[in-house]
Amino acid sequence: MNVGILGGGLAGLSVAAHLDHAYEVLERDAACGGHCFTVEEEGFTWDGGGPHIIFSRNERMVDYMVSLLAGNVRRARRNNKIFFKGRYVKYPFENGLGDLDPQDRFECLYHYLHNDHPAPTNFREWLYHTFGTGLTEKYLLPYNEKIWNCKAEELGLDWVEGRVPKPPVEDVIKAAVGVETEGYTHQLYYHYPERGGIVCVPRAFEPRVRKLTTGFEVRHVRRRGPTWVVSDGREEREFDRLVATIPIQDLVRVVEGVPADVAAAVRALRHNSLIVVAVGLATDRLPDYTAVYIPDPGILTHRISFPGVFSPHNVPPGRSLINAEITANAGDGVWELSDETVIRRVVSDLERMGLVRPSELCYTRAVRDTYGYVVQDAAYRRNRDTARAWFEAAGVVLCGRVAEHEYINMDVCIERGMAVARRLNAEA
Ligand SMILES: Cc1cc2nc3c(=O)[nH]c(=O)nc-3n(C[C@H](O)[C@H](O)[C@H](O)COP(=O)(O)OP(=O)(O)OC[C@H]3O[C@@H](n4cnc5c(N)ncnc54)[C@H](O)[C@@H]3O)c2cc1C
Repeated sequence: MNVGILGGGLAGLSVAAHLDHAYEVLERDAACGGHCFTVEEEGFTWDGGGPHIIFSRNERMVDYMVSLLAGNVRRARRNNKIFFKGRYVKYPFENGLGDLDPQDRFECLYHYLHNDHPAPTNFREWLYHTFGTGLTEKYLLPYNEKIWNCKAEELGLDWVEGRVPKPPVEDVIKAAVGVETEGYTHQLYYHYPERGGIVCVPRAFEPRVRKLTTGFEVRHVRRRGPTWVVSDGREEREFDRLVATIPIQDLVRVVEGVPADVAAAVRALRHNSLIVVAVGLATDRLPDYTAVYIPDPGILTHRISFPGVFSPHNVPPGRSLINAEITANAGDGVWELSDETVIRRVVSDLERMGLVRPSELCYTRAVRDTYGYVVQDAAYRRNRDTARAWFEAAGVVLCGRVAEHEYINMDVCIERGMAVARRLNAEA
């Protein structure tokens, strides 16, 4: 069997590294890694697909990713904050109530304990039902509507349980009266490459990939008898089986013969695009925060992070770096802003937050990513299942975050790649 692996992000590389059959990975870009790419410029090192840390609920996967880095790795404790009413409040918000003023603290705790919101049918209702009015309206609702770039009632519930942990009631009370507690403990400690940024994870797979062609953009896929023919418009390849790890929205456009209802289901799948802005400063006076979450709708970015905290080797001595993430969608007015305008707005917001002084600015850059976040709305499961079922029946295995259109991280993409390889290895 000869397998065509479309896309050389983490999912595609993981399939390749674990597959016994003959195969070829076809990657559009000059380098592999997809979302896990790293920009190295003017002494600064930062992740262009948004800040990536190594964590997982599955300890085995953490150990596996750490082992891939062969010693080029550091472990650190998260120090995240939420920027709320001019204060830097401990993250997650429900564990940071002690940092709020007494009235806000009271409202969060009171409504958390006296909460008769009915069983939820959408994400907005789930927030009220789970956290009560205070926590929801002060932080969770405005933050989530910023990062998801839509109304919370448009989002479904099937992604929520694993992603937004419910705090134990004791922890919320303790936090409100000033006793230290920690939430989201599966990411309290994280790993990150000592040098070279997150691209070191996909790079670690490459020596195990037997056949890889970069600069090959899959533009046309069709059947010739039992064979799949894949072309970039100049060259053709023939395969017995296909594993697709490229965005499903692009896949339906290039595969010949996709029925209209399947194409419509894929068009209805929602995603958010992302702009990542790097702001370098000629100072090392920044706080040692890992990331800051920003619910304020008047500030463009929803999250900033500090690559020099992930690893001190990410910044030159005496300098620091801030990454700002901005969710956008074509047509929303933000995506249409020029990079210069986005950078100007980010810098001015960071000045207002007390983090940037214009005289210290020494480096800026913006990077765009069309398929940043998978948005799981109410129709998500139906549309995704329609698409998956057709591709599966056609003999194309979908694998990874952008091909399966599922809100999963590096750990799960690698695991899914291993599972696909196991499945194909079992076939003759
Ligand atoms: C903002 C942000 C922050 C994140 N933070 C974390 C984190 O902290 N920790 C974590 O574990 N995960 C994180 N993730 C998730 C992680 O990035 C993904 O789960 C993972 O990298 C997805 O890998 P993939 O191979 O499925 O997709 P991709 O990385 O998108 O790979 C797809 C590949 O296909 C290629 N391709 C596309 N079109 C074509 C074509 N036509 N022909 C050939 N090749 C093509 C692309 O160039 C790319 O290399 C984050 C994601 C985002 C967006």
